[in-house]
Amino acid sequence: MAKEKKANTVTNQYGASMEKIVSLAKRRGFVYPSSEIYGGLSATWDYGPLGSELKNNIQNIWWKEMVRMHDNIVGLDAAIMMHPRTWEASGHVANFSDPLVDCKACKTRFREDKLDPETIKSKTCPECGGELTEPRQFNLMFSTHLGPVQDSGSIVYLRPETAQGIFVNFKNVVDTTRVQIPFGIAQVGKAFRNEITTKNFIFRTCEFEQMEMQFFVKPGTEDEWFDYWKKERMAYYLNKLGILEENLRFHQHGPNELAFYAKDAFDVEYQYPFGWEEQEGIHSRTDYDLSQHSKFCGKEVNYLDQSDNSRYIPYVIETSAGLTRSVLVCLMDAYHEETIGEDKDGKPDVRTVLHLHPNVAPVTVGIMPLVKKDGLAELALDVEKELRESFNTFYDQGGAIGRRYRRMDEIGTPFCVTVDYDTKEDKSVTLRFRDSMEQVRVPLAELENRIRREIKNYKRVK
Ligand code: ATP
Repeated sequence: MAKEKKANTVTNQYGASMEKIVSLAKRRGFVYPSSEIYGGLSATWDYGPLGSELKNNIQNIWWKEMVRMHDNIVGLDAAIMMHPRTWEASGHVANFSDPLVDCKACKTRFREDKLDPETIKSKTCPECGGELTEPRQFNLMFSTHLGPVQDSGSIVYLRPETAQGIFVNFKNVVDTTRVQIPFGIAQVGKAFRNEITTKNFIFRTCEFEQMEMQFFVKPGTEDEWFDYWKKERMAYYLNKLGILEENLRFHQHGPNELAFYAKDAFDVEYQYPFGWEEQEGIHSRTDYDLSQHSKFCGKEVNYLDQSDNSRYIPYVIETSAGLTRSVLVCLMDAYHEETIGEDKDGKPDVRTVLHLHPNVAPVTVGIMPLVKKDGLAELALDVEKELRESFNTFYDQGGAIGRRYRRMDEIGTPFCVTVDYDTKEDKSVTLRFRDSMEQVRVPLAELENRIRREIKNYKRVK
C-alpha cells in the first residue's frame, strides 16, 4: 500500500529504516518470511539462526531480571489452549475486538482507531479516496475445535495473551509454593490475535510472543508497587537491553484508553522511524481479573494474609512486554551506519554496525586467525573451544581480517579475538571492541575473565 511504503522509508538519525532492518534481517539470517518457498504467508515470520539466538537472549535476560533476581517472583508455563470460560471471565469473548472499516472502492480494510481523525470524519479511504463503511466490531481471538466433534461445545481459543494463564493458576501457586504477598508470577509464551493491521515487519503480527508478569499486592499498596514497576521496567530497557534513552518514553493512558476496571496504565513506548509505539504495558488492574475468575468458576479465589489474618482478593500490577516486538526494538535501536574515514578511492567508508548489548547479541565473541596457515587456524580453534563453554562464539577464517570484522559488526558481535604470529610467542591475542573499534592485547590466560568484565561493565555509546 502506498502509504505504508512511504512510512517505511523514513530513516532515523542513525540511518535505520524499516526497509534496511528487514533487508539486514533477511540477508544475515535474523528473520525470514514464513513458508517463503511457497510465496510466504501474510505477516508471519520465522526467526533464523541469528534471530532465534537474539530472541532467546532477550527472553533469558527478562527471565533472569524478573524471576531469578527477585525472591518474590516465580515462573509459570501455562498451556496455549485454556478452558473457554476463561475468556468469558476475562471479557475477551465479549469485548476483545477492533472497530473495522472497509473501503467500498479498493476493499482495503482498516482499524478505525488507527486512522487519523480527519479520515474518520470524512469517511474517505486514505489509499484511494473511496468511501469507507461504518465501523463494525471484529473479535481478534482465533478459535478452533478440541476433540473429534466440531460443534459449538468443542470451541477453544488460541490465547490472545499469556496473562490469563497466570490468573487461573493463582490459587495453585499460592497453595503449592511458599510465596507471600506481595509476589509475582511470570511467564513467556506465544499469543495469537487475528490482527488486521499487520504492517511494519514483526511489529504487529498474528502470532507473537509475550513476556508477562502479574504482581499480586495488598489493596491499598498498589500505587507504590505501580511506581516501583514503572521504574524497574524502564531501567531494564536502558541497562539490560541497552536501548538509547532518547528513544524511550512513558505514555500514560487517558480516560478513553483506560480499561473501565483499571486504576492507572502507562505504556513504555519506543520511537520507531514511523513514530512512537507501545513496547510494554504497565497496568494497575485492581482485583478485576481474580474477581472475574472467582465469579465465573464459582470458587473463592482469594488470599489469606498471615501478617494480619485478613482475607482479600489481591490487586494486580501487570507488566506486559512483547518478546518478538523486543527483537525489532533491539535491531532498530542498534542499527547504525557510521562513516569511519575514507576508503582507498577517497570515498566515505561507511560501516553498518549493530550496537547490540552483549546480553542479547547473537554472537558474543568472534574468533579468527589472522591467516589460516602456519598453525594459526589450529591455535584459533583451540581458543574458540575454550571460550564456547562460556560465550556464544563464532569462528571465521575466510577473507581479509578487516572484512571479517565488518561482518561481525553487522550482526552486532561485541568482541572479536584475533590470533596472530605473536600469539605463538607471547601467548596473547588481540581483543577488538565493536563499538570503539579499539584493539588491545590480552594474555590468553586472562581472556575469558576480561570478556566477562567487559560484558558486566558494558555501557552503550551512541
Ligand atoms: P497494540 O495496541 O500495539 O496492538 P495492545 O495494547 O493490544 O498493543 P497488549 O494487549 O497490552 O497490547 O499486549 C502487551 C504487549 O504485547 C504489547 O506492548 C506488545 O509489545 C505485545 N503485542 C501485543 N499485540 C501484539 C502483536 N499483534 N504483535 C506483536 N506484539 C504484540
